[in-house]
Amino acid sequence: MTTNRKVLMLPGDGIGPEVMHEVSRVIKWMNDNCGTAFDIQEGLCGGAAYDAHGTSLTNETLTEAMASDAILFGSVGGPKWDNVPREERPEAGLLRLRKEMDLFANLRPATVLDALADASTLKKEVVSGLDIMIVRELTAGVYFGEPRGTDTLPDGTRRGFDTEVYTQTEIERVARVSFELARKRSNKVHSVEKANVMESGVFWREVITALHAAEYSDVDLLHMYADNCAMQLVRNPKQFDVIVTNNLFGDVLSDCAAMLTGSLGMLPSASLGAPGPNGQRKALYEPVHGSAPDIAGQRLANPSAMVLSYAMMLRYSFDMCEEAELVEQAVQNVLASGLRTADIKQEKTAPVSTDVIGDALLSELSKLTG
Ligand code: NAD
Repeated sequence: MTTNRKVLMLPGDGIGPEVMHEVSRVIKWMNDNCGTAFDIQEGLCGGAAYDAHGTSLTNETLTEAMASDAILFGSVGGPKWDNVPREERPEAGLLRLRKEMDLFANLRPATVLDALADASTLKKEVVSGLDIMIVRELTAGVYFGEPRGTDTLPDGTRRGFDTEVYTQTEIERVARVSFELARKRSNKVHSVEKANVMESGVFWREVITALHAAEYSDVDLLHMYADNCAMQLVRNPKQFDVIVTNNLFGDVLSDCAAMLTGSLGMLPSASLGAPGPNGQRKALYEPVHGSAPDIAGQRLANPSAMVLSYAMMLRYSFDMCEEAELVEQAVQNVLASGLRTADIKQEKTAPVSTDVIGDALLSELSKLTG
């Protein structure tokens, strides 16, 4: 089938192909029953690509990725590739994809589904109904800033250093993504930095404030220091709608928010680039979890995070919000039915396998559309 919805699937390593298999079944079901009409290509990335081609991402796969409307990515890595050269490590393939596609906005939703409100380490009333979106700047800041390195001081002792640096353009483009997301949600953005102690934080706040006044004054904008944000995420997470922050704070705060939901196997993510000439952004969708080598090949993996990443693709790359909600509802219904993989299983119930969850998802989709 050839359509203008070109999706490249890169299942990767470990449990990546197992969870991607369940998404393939959902995509086929939706192509057959909902007219989604995706044109799916499959490729190798990570350790699987290294084994086949001696590199974790071939130029051909990169070219296909650049020509696709969206990428569905499983996960890469595992002990099998611990000793391959650093530049060919499985993770290098993913990093190259992110860099070449300039995926600067990392969207990390933290949603607590009713059926899983007990899985959080926080009290049920603090997290139940939680629905926040952290937007982390992904391609700049202290992880990339120059100068960086180590050197020796005149007194003979050594030092290590990195540079936190953001341009106006880098701040504005991630802020735009956040304001536009907020408009489709609860219309509130918290911008998070350390303007009290960092010059780059003062600048971040200035740029966001100016952009807000010029283009997004209909959205509520609040500023918060990153340390307070960490505390508030645990104290009262439901005060947040969209949080926008830099690469370093986003790294930490998104993992903190993820754990409010209690389960790695449930968490999707999206990484978005700049809009192209047709208005569509380059985009990669992947679960937050890794390749879980400890359970790979045993049909134990929870496919929900991968399936929910596909739902994010429907919503953010193709504006298919109804279809996204359908998939999300199917995931919720399967959980509510009591079917659980081992990572989220309830006491006194036996865990089920990856494919049993996949079967249940298809039957929920049929029921919901029937
Ligand atoms: P991990 O997320 O793979 O696993 C952490 C724990 O969570 C494991 O016990 C695992 O069994 C469990 N788990 C993860 N996903 C699950 C799922 N869907 N269902 C059930 N249980 C699940 O993290 P790790 O162990 O630190 O890393 C393993 C490998 O994955 C490493 O090589 C790491 O570099 C790689 N990794 C890749 C990505 C990516 O591809 N984006 C992200 C993180 C880690």
